[in-house]
Amino acid sequence: MAYQHHWQDGSPIEWPPGKIVCVGRNYAAHAAELSNPVPEQPLLFIKPATALVPMTAPIRLPGGRGDVHFEAELAVLVGRSLTCASRQQALEAIAAIGLALDLTLRDLQSELKANGHPWERAKAFDGACPLSGFVPLRNDDHLDDLRFSLSIDGEQRQQGHTGDMITPVLELLTHISETFTLRPGDVVLTGTPAGVGTLHSGQQLSLELDGRFHVQTSVE
Ligand code: ZN
Repeated sequence: MAYQHHWQDGSPIEWPPGKIVCVGRNYAAHAAELSNPVPEQPLLFIKPATALVPMTAPIRLPGGRGDVHFEAELAVLVGRSLTCASRQQALEAIAAIGLALDLTLRDLQSELKANGHPWERAKAFDGACPLSGFVPLRNDDHLDDLRFSLSIDGEQRQQGHTGDMITPVLELLTHISETFTLRPGDVVLTGTPAGVGTLHSGQQLSLELDGRFHVQTSVE
């Protein structure tokens, strides 16, 4: 079944799924765990809409291509067109927030990086972006004070606080919009905190967004 954006209650969101703009190394502790330097400006890459799958569908690991890593991330659903946007325009364009897994073929990515090649084969494959249902941003939500977490088989593996981002959400949106026009239905992935690791068949994943919702999934 084709992926469609939806609210947490299951009702559909009108905009067609667009591109997913992602930022690498947006949490210092995660950059350090992979021995990567923190970039001077946000390190951007894109996953196509064909990477999207509903978070609740069992995760299918691509076979024969090495380790697949989980990266839990806050996802922002864009609801207005943004080109060279101001912070205020970026704020007004946030239609909703949710959680995503930026699935990464880590062995392949390391090989591509070593050869100076683009990362798409490791990051943009079909199914590389499981995405939860969305919830609207509330008046009392502070974009720089949202917490999210990922547990696997009952053990907490990742815990994120948006206040720890190197480039905070609104700055990230304005920066992205200087290069890529964001359109309604596009999604921005805001980077992963420390704790990434390899997915294994049969694992049960549980993700939580700041008391707003839980979402469960499993690895096929
Ligand atoms: Zn990521």
